[in-house]
Amino acid sequence: MQYDPKIMERGKQYYRNNLVKYCIKYKNLLFGEVIGSDVYRVKVDLNDNYFGLCTCPYKYNCKHAYALIEAYKNNNYIDAEEIFKELKNKSKEEILEILKNLIIKNYLWDEFLDTESLLNKAIGLIKLIPLERKNIHTFKSFLRNQFVKNADDEELIKVIEEMIKADLDFEDSDVIEALTIILDEIFRRENKKIIEKLINLYRKHKKELWIVGDYLIEFYY
Ligand SMILES: [Zn+2]
Repeated sequence: MQYDPKIMERGKQYYRNNLVKYCIKYKNLLFGEVIGSDVYRVKVDLNDNYFGLCTCPYKYNCKHAYALIEAYKNNNYIDAEEIFKELKNKSKEEILEILKNLIIKNYLWDEFLDTESLLNKAIGLIKLIPLERKNIHTFKSFLRNQFVKNADDEELIKVIEEMIKADLDFEDSDVIEALTIILDEIFRRENKKIIEKLINLYRKHKKELWIVGDYLIEFYY
């Protein structure tokens, strides 16, 4: 297990002091929330040497992740299947009511927006950038918070095409950052077809898309 002994000790203290709000086991993953200077969300992979991701500044294999592991080892967890089993016995109306309440409480509206309208918003934001430079920051946040997680593969490519069409300055570090948000997502998905499309676009626009070359080297070697 790749946890520092000091971190493990602190994690145990967190667990003993009841700072693990809950620990849920779903398949090979543990999900939990741990109270520290904030309430942190933690996810631990039981199939991957207890690798733990956390929303704290430490990010992974931290004391919060270890606290969650400690809860699991002490049998202090709930099997997610038991929670989901209850849903099976509910009527469609009851499930719809639960779903509606979840959406409202957690602001999950964007899960239900069609990406068509998101793509149009992206294009709208791109067109604002040449008018006023600071709009690039709005565009970056939009990509990060809304676009990349909801867009399909084609739409990711389409946004890059629109950035080229709008004649953005691809030497500008903020424009490059916007581009890398999209590229990170494309390469994370590891879909060969879409990477081929990207390569074709890169061949036509090497001047603008110079940074794609770096990604390809890393991806293929
Ligand atoms: Zn943490």
